Amino acid sequence: MTATTHRPSEVATLADPQSGSDVADLSMFVAGSPTSAIGGATFDSYEPRSGRVWATLPRSGAEDVDRAVRAARAAFEGPWGAVSAADRGRFLTKIAAVVDRHREQLVVIESRDNGKPVREVRAEIDAVVRYFEYFAGVAQTVLGETHPQAATAFSYTRREPVGVVGAIVPWNSPLLMLAWKLSPALAGGNTIILKPAEETSVSAVVFAQLIAEAGLPDGVFNVVTGLGEEAGAALVAHPGVDKIAFTGSTEVGKHIAATAANDLKLVTFELGGKSPTLIFSDADLDAAVHRTAYGIFSAAGQTCQAASRIFVQEAIHDEFLDRFATLARSIRVGDPLSERTQMGAQISAQHRERIARYVASGTQEGATLVCGGTRPTEPPLADGYYYSPTILDGVNRDMKMIREEIFGPVTGIQTFTDEADALAKANDTEYGLAGSVWTRDVARAHRVAAGIAAGLIWVNTTRTINHLVPFGGYKQSGYGREGGQAVMEHYTRIKSVWVDLQDDLPNWYAD
Ligand code: NAD
Repeated sequence: MTATTHRPSEVATLADPQSGSDVADLSMFVAGSPTSAIGGATFDSYEPRSGRVWATLPRSGAEDVDRAVRAARAAFEGPWGAVSAADRGRFLTKIAAVVDRHREQLVVIESRDNGKPVREVRAEIDAVVRYFEYFAGVAQTVLGETHPQAATAFSYTRREPVGVVGAIVPWNSPLLMLAWKLSPALAGGNTIILKPAEETSVSAVVFAQLIAEAGLPDGVFNVVTGLGEEAGAALVAHPGVDKIAFTGSTEVGKHIAATAANDLKLVTFELGGKSPTLIFSDADLDAAVHRTAYGIFSAAGQTCQAASRIFVQEAIHDEFLDRFATLARSIRVGDPLSERTQMGAQISAQHRERIARYVASGTQEGATLVCGGTRPTEPPLADGYYYSPTILDGVNRDMKMIREEIFGPVTGIQTFTDEADALAKANDTEYGLAGSVWTRDVARAHRVAAGIAAGLIWVNTTRTINHLVPFGGYKQSGYGREGGQAVMEHYTRIKSVWVDLQDDLPNWYAD
């Protein structure tokens, strides 16, 4: 194994979009040090805004994962296990401060890595800081309980860390997904190995490099880069990993669930979605139009909560569609590093082709293309992975583009007659991540919120989440929750302790 030392200027170079055609040769982060893969293999990372290779990263295999697991285990059973909850909270506070201090560099690096506009990434980095700040406090609130036993006995529970956590995250909000897992894992006293998505590993290794300033003991936080079927699969299969926290596609989630069943690892899954938006005729139409556009076109549609199935009450269909399409056509698609850009790039050329195939399948199955369905062909956008905001009308439940998650800026419009019809159509999906209802009728809002089979419902808004509120899915959108106090259930486990208080413990075998 070769260890490479990061140049101090490296982060600054990555955060400088004018850094020409330099390709950064990056290390991952294991046992407190920047590290190459044991066999020296690497893979390329592409910048979605330009379509060019901008970094190479270590391509880990099973041996690399094993090394990281041993480092994480040694830290868990060694120095980290001795750190008090209060001091774990202090480490989290320091991490929040480091992220805050390097905020603008991280914004540019994340935007270059993922293709999301800087104005959106800025909000995500703010959220990253808030997650670490929040879980700094939560660390000291993870309590056990006592039970109302008779005077002869005393019992209590301890909430103990799970141990070594393998966290596998997708490419769509890389640092936010990292924060969702790292902050509660550390608050609960665990050590962690992060496997970022191969498309977006740059910001994760930069983050690891930066937070070395916070002084975590070696091995508490490790980043292993590589491909899903190599490094990711090795992490899931490793017997030294106690829990897998996975965010990604439902397909890969099912595969991981099957592998993790071999040694009954703990698992939590945040998976795909096909979230319904129900717009009743009494809704504030202005708000419904612009916020639903945000629901599907922010992050260029690459979010698990995307408003990808829109149901409009029949009487307002034409007016809604007209205003919604006008807004969609006005969205400024462009370089994510420009402050004016409202929608950035897709993650890869292959992903964009996949999106285009879904749009084609929709029109072939009888849907009407209202706007979008194109990619810019003029410089400077022609080389990046851009795709226009796309609306299809007249879609139905049987269409492939309505049944499957597209994960792009494409939505389909359907109509409904009444509340019962709206709920039946909304729930006609194998997913259950989120849903949105638009109405001025308070009673109906609550009925519909209760009636949608999903883990998160928005009333007269959409795509609102933060560190305080649990987030997670029903049905094939996964199980487990991120955020809020609820997530600590998944990063700790309960030990029950019985204490006998009798001077003379009755002898069961005395007579
Ligand atoms: P993906 O499932 O292809 O990959 C996710 C991660 O899993 C990556 O790090 C990848 O390297 C790894 N991986 C792939 N194959 C693996 C294997 N065999 N074993 C172990 N790890 C493996 O997903 P993606 O394309 O990166 O992200 C998009 C998906 O993520 C969408 O379905 C989206 O809905 C979902 N997502 C869900 C949430 C949520 O909170 N519910 C949030 C963001 C994204």
